[in-house]
Amino acid sequence: MKTWFKEIAFSTRQQRETVDLTEEVLSAVGESGVRNGLLVLQLPHATAALTLNESEDGLRRDILEKLDDLIPVRGRYQHDRIDTNAHAHLKSALVGSSVVLPIVDGSIIRGTWQNFLVIEQDGPRRRRLAVFVMGE
Ligand code: ZN
Repeated sequence: MKTWFKEIAFSTRQQRETVDLTEEVLSAVGESGVRNGLLVLQLPHATAALTLNESEDGLRRDILEKLDDLIPVRGRYQHDRIDTNAHAHLKSALVGSSVVLPIVDGSIIRGTWQNFLVIEQDGPRRRRLAVFVMGE
């Protein structure tokens, strides 16, 4: 069984935004040459999140606004005694930062509207997404 690894480097431009990395992920999996196996995506950051969802502009704004409703940027957070980004850590903890998906006959098993969206909450900054593929 083969294993393959790559990091997709990208930059975010705003404090809070979504970034669609679907094209980059699909091309990385193609590059791996694995046609049947598992895709593991890990966003190695504590103030951003990774989710699968539709890359429609309104929905992408809805996701950001709903996260702000649930976890406002300013609040009485303990972490803000030493930093200013508790809300970003909490949103990352809530949404999560990794996904595992099957690859079957050269295609990643995902829904039509399941794009790979990074939810930035503490930008702008340099980020990376780790892509690990195993299979044959
Ligand atoms: Zn912090």
